[in-house]
Amino acid sequence: MVKVMKEIRMVDLVGQYQKIQEEINKSIENVILSSAFINGPEVQLFSKELGKYMDCKHTIPCANGTDALQVALMALDLHPGDEIITPGFSFIASLEVIALLGLTPVLVDVDPETFNIAPERIEKAITSKTRAIIPVHLFGQCSDMEPIMALAKRHNLYVIEDAAQSMGSIYSFNDGRLKRAGTIGDIGCTSFFPTKNLGCYGDGGALMTNNDELAEKIFSIVNHGAKIKYYHERVGVNSRLDSLQAAILRVKLKHIEEYILARQDAARRYDEFLKDTNGIKIPVRSSFSTHVFHQYTVILEEIDRKEFAGYLSSKGIPTMVYYPVPLHLQEAYRYLGYARGDFYHAEYLCDHVISLPMHTELEKDQQEYITDSIIECLNNPSR
Ligand SMILES: *Cc1c(COP(=O)(O)O)cnc(C)c1O
Repeated sequence: MVKVMKEIRMVDLVGQYQKIQEEINKSIENVILSSAFINGPEVQLFSKELGKYMDCKHTIPCANGTDALQVALMALDLHPGDEIITPGFSFIASLEVIALLGLTPVLVDVDPETFNIAPERIEKAITSKTRAIIPVHLFGQCSDMEPIMALAKRHNLYVIEDAAQSMGSIYSFNDGRLKRAGTIGDIGCTSFFPTKNLGCYGDGGALMTNNDELAEKIFSIVNHGAKIKYYHERVGVNSRLDSLQAAILRVKLKHIEEYILARQDAARRYDEFLKDTNGIKIPVRSSFSTHVFHQYTVILEEIDRKEFAGYLSSKGIPTMVYYPVPLHLQEAYRYLGYARGDFYHAEYLCDHVISLPMHTELEKDQQEYITDSIIECLNNPSR
């Protein structure tokens, strides 16, 4: 009998769930039977286990990754007019929370190879008002943290890492020290959105820090600004990780290394099939970071992206564009005064990148079919 290829999806959360179904269902049932829905033991246990995995002193769960970034900024006692630097090619969250808190976002261009914030461009954007840098570890690879931490120290700036897409990725310092994404700066933020590398079945997030004083502030901020119930020492928010989500995350955290390997294997297979194909640039691995492939994002150097996506779609292959518009050209942030032409690489990437299906359940025959279709598309002048 001929083996029928599974339907190709951008992500396959059902396939992943089916392999751990019993354990997940039992965990969910236990939470319901205990009715410890808010800040129950599962939340405390997950927080401890995550801290151990990350090798980080304090992990503070919260409601989602965007909240984590907002709370991180709130913990730094910043003032209106303070400038915060973040990359121009990214998801909106880092820019959004800076603006929301009345701080001044300063965008900088990214490195065209790694898609991450370029340290030398950060330095040029620093003024007397700069207070913090939010590097985003995009698509699964760490930004170049050693030079970023060095210039932050020189200019007395905080560093908040956005590690939402790079859970488990490892940065290596020149002296051989290794640290996980999110544990290098003053505060690290991550998201457990379902499609993230460590995802739950709803919203979730966490902050990480090795600084006791910041940890204490963060604990209080996510909890209405109170360390002791009904005694509010600062303006806070209500941002909690749900106990059901914590229970699910405890099961999935046990599998994270296996999930990372599955993504890396899938990326290697794509590389292998695509490396000699003209007109398509496969992801570059930086020397200082492992890549956990939240996305497998290629650059289309010649072919029109719409045509490419349309061709693959006609073959039953989904693709996505992360991200179609650079942050400096987003409608809501026009007031910042940026214009087209300000960030060459961010603009080029927004016009030319496309992400292929990438998840833990991707199979070799699916990838062969995807890459055969890509090569067919690129070689077909009459497309
Ligand atoms: C997903 C994501 C966030 C936000 O996480 P949510 O949990 O969806 O709020 C922030 N930054 C980046 C880079 C992300 O990919």
